[in-house]
Amino acid sequence: MIFETLHDKIAHAASLFKQSHYALAFTGAGISTDSGIPDFRSQELGLWHNVDAMTVASIFGFKRNPQAFYDWVAPLTRTTLAARPNNAHITLAELERRGFLHGVITQNIDMLHTRAGSQCIYELHGHMRTATCISCFKVFEGEPILKQFIEDGRVPHCKICNGVLKPDVILFGEQLPIREFQNAQEAVRRCDLMLVVGSSLEVAPAGDIPLMAARRGTKLIIINLEPTPADKMAEVVIHARAAEILPEIARRVESL
Ligand code: NAD
Repeated sequence: MIFETLHDKIAHAASLFKQSHYALAFTGAGISTDSGIPDFRSQELGLWHNVDAMTVASIFGFKRNPQAFYDWVAPLTRTTLAARPNNAHITLAELERRGFLHGVITQNIDMLHTRAGSQCIYELHGHMRTATCISCFKVFEGEPILKQFIEDGRVPHCKICNGVLKPDVILFGEQLPIREFQNAQEAVRRCDLMLVVGSSLEVAPAGDIPLMAARRGTKLIIINLEPTPADKMAEVVIHARAAEILPEIARRVESL
């Protein structure tokens, strides 16, 4: 079916929510750009602009030179700690409260789904809530450690063994949190509708989830500024800002 207008697409997305028995959202960095947090791949503002990802954002790079990681991540940390959920995060939390959404699988580390009030969240790439010592594995609360680093620019160390502390975000070369990933996969197996928001779907294995779900028959709604590899498998594709489109879909769901 070809949908000509944005209005038609929003109406169709809303009707898919109405028909769905178990809908999930799958979100990426693009859902948080309207909260002031840059994504990874946008030109100029993207976090990969002018850096070698493997030097600053891999576990090997971190162990060799934690200062380089902390210096690179400092602007993201500063904006994340100050950021507030936008209308896209808030709408997903409302859809869950109203029973139209059963969970959010996110690649984001910014914790904005939690702050928006979403209850069932699968954080596949970790979060900044905690930090772990890479020597003795003691876990510490993340926010005071990150705030301290932003203030003095010094790599944080463990109070127990003086090992380097690493925020519990997943770097290149690290495994995804296994329990979280398995729980997300279990939810995906039940899901008949997936709302994909603000992800290039380029980072495997998490980014493969929507395509794998679509191959098993899950309907996809994609809201992303740019085309994604899953567009051709989706029922509805809207290339626009998530914070503008999601509230429109939710209003329409309410009125059906
Ligand atoms: P990505 O940067 O690869 O892709 C973001 C996508 O969102 C792009 O295709 C872009 O066109 C789209 N986009 C940007 N602003 C948008 C908006 N307002 N509305 C709709 N679409 C918008 O991000 P990704 O796919 O999540 O994967 C990369 C990795 O980035 C993930 O591992 C994630 O951990 C990490 N990351 C997270 C944050 C965060 O937590 N906020 C920020 C940067 C990077």
